[in-house]
Amino acid sequence: MACCYEDGRGWCREQESVWTDESGREYCLFHAPVGNKGVDTLSFNEALFTLILKARIEERECDLSGTIFDGPIRFSRFSGESEFFPAINFSKALFTGNASFSVACFKHRARFTEARFEANADFLQTSFMENADFTHVEFGGHTSFAGAAFSGHAGFSGTSFSGDTLFNDTQFLSGVTFSGALFREKAVFYGARFNGTTYFFGTTFRRDVEFSRFQFQGPIDFSNVKIAGKMNTLF
Ligand SMILES: [Zn+2]
Repeated sequence: MACCYEDGRGWCREQESVWTDESGREYCLFHAPVGNKGVDTLSFNEALFTLILKARIEERECDLSGTIFDGPIRFSRFSGESEFFPAINFSKALFTGNASFSVACFKHRARFTEARFEANADFLQTSFMENADFTHVEFGGHTSFAGAAFSGHAGFSGTSFSGDTLFNDTQFLSGVTFSGALFREKAVFYGARFNGTTYFFGTTFRRDVEFSRFQFQGPIDFSNVKIAGKMNTLF
C-alpha cells in the first residue's frame, strides 16, 4: 500500500510504508509523524538528502511537499557552483527543529508555500537564483535572511514571523512582496537593498521595525502598513 499522502497519488507513492495509523492509513518515511519514522534524525536527514541529490542528477524538480522533518537539519552541503539545490518544493512541509539553509544555493525555483517552521530558520547568506516563494509560511522562531540574495522575485505575502526577524543586508534584486505579512516581534531591514517593485501593502509590524541604511531602486508600496512599535529609518 502507498503512503496516504494525497490519497496514495503523492510524489512518495513509490516509497515503502514505515508506519500505519489507527485507521489503517499508511505513511512513508517522509510523511510519518515525528516519533513514528523508525529511524533517527541523522538517518532521516540522509534519506532526504539522497532524494535531493537524485533530483539534481536527473535535472528535475525535487518534490518534498508535506514532508515532516524529524528534527534539526542543516542544508549547507547544497552550496556553491556544483553542489546547488535543484528546483525544490518544500510547500506545506513541517520543520520541527532548527532548519539551517545557511550559505546554500537555490539555483532554480524554491517553493516553501505554506511551510511551517516550529523552531529557528536560518537563511544566512543563502542565494536564490530564481523565484523564491515563502507565501503564507509560518516562521515560529527566530528567522534570519541576513546577507541572503534573491535574484528572482521573492514572495512573502501573508507570511507570519513569530520571533525576531533579520533581513539585514538582504538583496531583493527582482522585486519582493510582504503584502499582508505579520511580524510579531522586531524586524530588521538594516542595509537591505530593494530593486524592482517592493510591496509592504497591509504589512503589520507588532513591534519595532528598522529600515536604516536601506537602498531602493523602483517603486515601493507602503500603503496600509501598521506599525505598533517604533520605526527607525536612519539614512
Ligand atoms: Zn508519503
